[in-house]
Amino acid sequence: MGKVTGFMEFERLEEGYEPVGARVKNYKEFVIGLSVEQSTQQAARCMDCGTPFCNNGCPVNNIIPDFNDLVYQGDWANAITILHSTNNFPEFTGRICPAPCEAACTLNVNDDAVGIKSIEHAIIDRAWAEGWVQPQLPKYKTGKTVAIVGSGPAGLAAAQQLARAGHSVTVFEKNDRVGGLLRYGIPDFKMEKSHIDRRVAQMEAEGVVFRTSVLVACMPEGSKVTNWAKDSISPDELKSQFDAVLLSGGSEASRDLPAPGRELSGIHFAMEFLPQQNKVNAGDKLKGQIRADGKHVVVIGGGDTGSDCVGTSNRHGAKSVTQFELMPQPPEVEDRPLTWPYWPLKLRTSSSHEEGCEREFAISTKEFVGEKGKLTGVKTVRVEWQGGKMVEVPGSEQIIKADLVFLAMGFVAPVATVLDAFGVSKDARGNAKASTDFSGGYKTNVDKVFAAGDMRRGQSLVVWAIREGRQAARAVDEFLMGRSDLPR
Ligand SMILES: Cc1cc2nc3c(=O)[nH]c(=O)nc-3n(C[C@H](O)[C@H](O)[C@H](O)COP(=O)(O)OP(=O)(O)OC[C@H]3O[C@@H](n4cnc5c(N)ncnc54)[C@H](O)[C@@H]3O)c2cc1C
Ligand code: SF4
Repeated sequence: MGKVTGFMEFERLEEGYEPVGARVKNYKEFVIGLSVEQSTQQAARCMDCGTPFCNNGCPVNNIIPDFNDLVYQGDWANAITILHSTNNFPEFTGRICPAPCEAACTLNVNDDAVGIKSIEHAIIDRAWAEGWVQPQLPKYKTGKTVAIVGSGPAGLAAAQQLARAGHSVTVFEKNDRVGGLLRYGIPDFKMEKSHIDRRVAQMEAEGVVFRTSVLVACMPEGSKVTNWAKDSISPDELKSQFDAVLLSGGSEASRDLPAPGRELSGIHFAMEFLPQQNKVNAGDKLKGQIRADGKHVVVIGGGDTGSDCVGTSNRHGAKSVTQFELMPQPPEVEDRPLTWPYWPLKLRTSSSHEEGCEREFAISTKEFVGEKGKLTGVKTVRVEWQGGKMVEVPGSEQIIKADLVFLAMGFVAPVATVLDAFGVSKDARGNAKASTDFSGGYKTNVDKVFAAGDMRRGQSLVVWAIREGRQAARAVDEFLMGRSDLPR
């Protein structure tokens, strides 16, 4: 434990943000990380609890008290070794993880949690700057081959673990660049894409082969899912060419809103809008980019994806941005005795909301209205929740002006045709059916085919995808070698 009295002496420090006026002019990251001195002081607040709830609250089980102590002692090189022992990509989570670890921090019972995520962010950024992050080549090659379908955080984590265990790993990705939703979902202003490129270079040096613009199996006719494939490969070819296959294709089928007027022009899925801007930021030329300049934008869906549409619309120069959420507004402060150490229900205001957004809660969309085939507004009604049932408030209907609507109501399931083509059984929600059991986990009903990440668990978080990728890698290694030294 760093400083015994640290938690009584020092306050929680938040990372800084560039001012709104400056940051909305571009797509660059705007979070100002903690300095070495600030990180050292923040790490001193950690109480090194006998039962570290933070470690359990973190889906990859980061060994938080240990890296806090090492930062306090000034031993940053060992801090990154500890952090990398449980998390392949702390530069992703240190930027975009919602930090369930902090909700579980013991200080959060009656004080402010330790700024765990900001310390993680500082450790990995320093590690890259100091040149401490280097390729880790396997001591020997096993001669076994593994195909990974999808290059999101689950596929990347699995690929890195399996390559380090000595297997020859090929990652197949239908999009033109590696990264999954890290690349073509999460906006650059939350996470710049150079972080992915740097890891891809490290992984290539470790022996991982990336085959982009290659679709495994098939997409349904007229699918709106991102797909820049120029080539394809069938499940049978994959199974005959590789000793094991891991499906980590994400949960890409967006939830639609089939209200009257849905066919009007100006209504798009969030995942039609967001990837386009990321491509433009990467230097690609697009024809007919969906733009929000000077428009009244309505975002339907109150989560992260909706918030990313808000931030992107404001950067385009939208005239107004309104975000709808079906559920009532949650309390500003959580009921800590009731919820700790779990993830609490409370009002969350993102940096994108702070940049300008009207937030409407307990509101439902009845109809899209328009003229000459073009969207002009959204007909809404206020709702109340009575005994778990949604009830419309009589007389509360109104029309909200809208030139553009983004549907950001989450994802229903993975694209079914991909799982069907492999003959992989689905669970009740349409995800690939595989358990997370210690033995035989992540294995589907099809011989030598495994599944992990959003494709197995449904839409989730980057940190959960990393966990699943790591655990699935161990399962694949065990299947190939009869035993595994990879951590779970
Ligand atoms: C807009 C948005 C913002 C988000 N923000 C956050 C956030 O701030 N923090 C957070 O923790 N989480 C966030 N999430 C959730 C997070 O991104 C996902 O949970 C995570 O990326 C899932 O990882 P994955 O590897 O399972 O799948 P994905 O990241 O979805 O990657 C799957 C990859 O597989 C490829 N693929 C699919 N099928 C095939 C096929 N047949 N052939 C070849 N390739 C295929 C896809 O093209 C894709 O690249 C966000 C999600 C969205 C949509
Ligand atoms: S990965 Fe997320 S939950 Fe885990 S320590 Fe980092 S911020 Fe916390």
